[in-house]
Amino acid sequence: MVELPAGPLAAADARRHARAVLATGTGAAVRAAAAAPAPRPPIVARPIPFGAERRRQMAAYSLRHYGEATARLTDPKLIVEHFTATTSYASAWNTFAANAPDVELHERPGVCAHFLIDRDGTITQLVPLTLRCRHTIGLNHVAIGIEHVGVSDAGVMGDRAQLAASLQLTRWLQARFGIRTGDVIGHAESLSSPYYHENVAALRGRTHGDFAHATMETYRAMLSHSLASRSTRVAVTPARTASSWAAKARPRRIASAVSSVHSSTAIVPASGP
Ligand SMILES: [Zn+2]
Repeated sequence: MVELPAGPLAAADARRHARAVLATGTGAAVRAAAAAPAPRPPIVARPIPFGAERRRQMAAYSLRHYGEATARLTDPKLIVEHFTATTSYASAWNTFAANAPDVELHERPGVCAHFLIDRDGTITQLVPLTLRCRHTIGLNHVAIGIEHVGVSDAGVMGDRAQLAASLQLTRWLQARFGIRTGDVIGHAESLSSPYYHENVAALRGRTHGDFAHATMETYRAMLSHSLASRSTRVAVTPARTASSWAAKARPRRIASAVSSVHSSTAIVPASGP
């Protein structure tokens, strides 16, 4: 197992880490999770209070920041990955449930995310996907937020159970809403998203450091790997000819080619499939 330095992940470390994860026995869990079609992963409902008052606050927030008075999240365009900067699930959940005004502009509603993934890989849902959550300045009107209990990118990427759950959830959401892998971003990448929009000048250009670009290169590579292996399988099946043996052999050869490409060079993410 490759030990990763704390803090932002250098690209070379990211690639080394991804190869190590994919090569180790239980990295197979990540690979298996990455290669499967996009089934809905087990999700535990842990809703935070999000009643009429909080929805009214979210609509007012949306009007100030995006020019549209609605709390509804319709047709999400991207997924933003976060870590909670906490070591426990409970402290993160309590923060999201508290609906406290932010310390700077004293705005409500308070921060939250749609999903919170614990260190053991348990996926919990806090807010319905039809509602906007405040998790990323400039993108809350178009983005699904996934939080990971943890204090660093390396901590989440090095936690196989949490990472496998995160990949499964993200892939399922991608399939459900037709979200490209290039639109699966880290919080730290928010400013470079084509969907970024912020009307409040004091907040324009603001972002956070969680899930930096180098980390997301690895993360997206794992997502792309799953998409690539899924599409080659689909492509081969209809072409099956009379001699089923030949057709059966082809998928394996292509799949191993894809994975060998991936393992040799490719943990340089495709920016979207
Ligand atoms: Zn964040």
